Amino acid sequence: MIPGGYGLPPSSKILKKDRLPSFLERLLEERIVFAPVRRGEVILIREIHAPSEVVLEYENAKESPKSIFFPEREPLFRYRTEKGKVEVDIPPGRERSRVVFGIRPCDARGLLLLDKVLGGEYRDPYYFDKRAETLVVSLACDHPNPSCFCLSMGGGPCSPEGSDLLLLDLSDGYLAEAVSERGAALLEDPAFEKSDEESLAVAKKIKRESEVSMKPVAMKENLEEHLERVFDDPVWKDLTETCLGCGICTYLCPTCYCFDLCDEAAGSSGERIRVWDSCQFPLFTQQASGLNPRPTAKERFRQRIMHKFSYLPKSQAMLGCVGCGRCVTECPVNLDIREVVKSLSGGNGG
Ligand code: SF4
Ligand code: SF4
Repeated sequence: MIPGGYGLPPSSKILKKDRLPSFLERLLEERIVFAPVRRGEVILIREIHAPSEVVLEYENAKESPKSIFFPEREPLFRYRTEKGKVEVDIPPGRERSRVVFGIRPCDARGLLLLDKVLGGEYRDPYYFDKRAETLVVSLACDHPNPSCFCLSMGGGPCSPEGSDLLLLDLSDGYLAEAVSERGAALLEDPAFEKSDEESLAVAKKIKRESEVSMKPVAMKENLEEHLERVFDDPVWKDLTETCLGCGICTYLCPTCYCFDLCDEAAGSSGERIRVWDSCQFPLFTQQASGLNPRPTAKERFRQRIMHKFSYLPKSQAMLGCVGCGRCVTECPVNLDIREVVKSLSGGNGG
């Protein structure tokens, strides 16, 4: 790993904007490329076939890019039963390398949490097959959205964590910083030119201004311990009164990874499918006996917060939120996770 932080050349180079199309053309010759594209009113991260499709003047994509590594619906294997025997066909792995270009640093950092969770004792081969062969080129946020709070979650609008290459918009070009060896290899492309002290100084200024523009989230020290103490506090009921249990917050979240397994079968053959699930759905914890240990929105919402701010910091040494702000902007009843954390931090249950 090459240390991040807009260091000195050769880890940083300049990519002039008029040379970006030729760089993307060369990427497209060798790899499948995903990048921000406009679809109607929104920006989504999708596979592109031409540089002209890419939109880099955007705040953040509507959905997180986690589905590129962890699809919403993924066939795991096909099976066939015949005369008491079972035959299993596992889909082949990736043949072409890929690059995810122009995602935001919060989403790149979110991948680090997925790496930890899906790479634990039971390493998920489907996820890592995609992750290992995919380069991540992120685009720093020089004007963070008011709903973003990555800095309070341990990241930052220009954080290199989770990226192979980090780009920062300097107006007529991008300062490109290699974060990994794979990112450094990309800088060998002829589209890049040597950076200079002036560009590095401008980048530092943009980074500082971007961080200063973010409103911090008031969080109690040792929040993970504090949350355990307020587990039975009546504040949870008040906080979650309006939650509809729609699951949008978890589906859009770059770090939520809960899934369900189901079989789609016809006769003696079928397919085992992995589909996203959500802790906000009543059936998530419904047991065959009829018992549901999380019977109301209060328990389900509490689980989401406990998991992100108490259980994951304890088990994975990382918060389960990267502050992308999607759940803040997309929750249909405006349930703001920043306000929830603030209320719990000042709650009277501890
Ligand atoms: S998006 Fe809002 S309403 Fe829907 S489950 Fe999440 S917190 Fe509840
Ligand atoms: S919890 Fe909300 S703000 Fe945090 S990473 Fe998930 S969607 Fe983004």
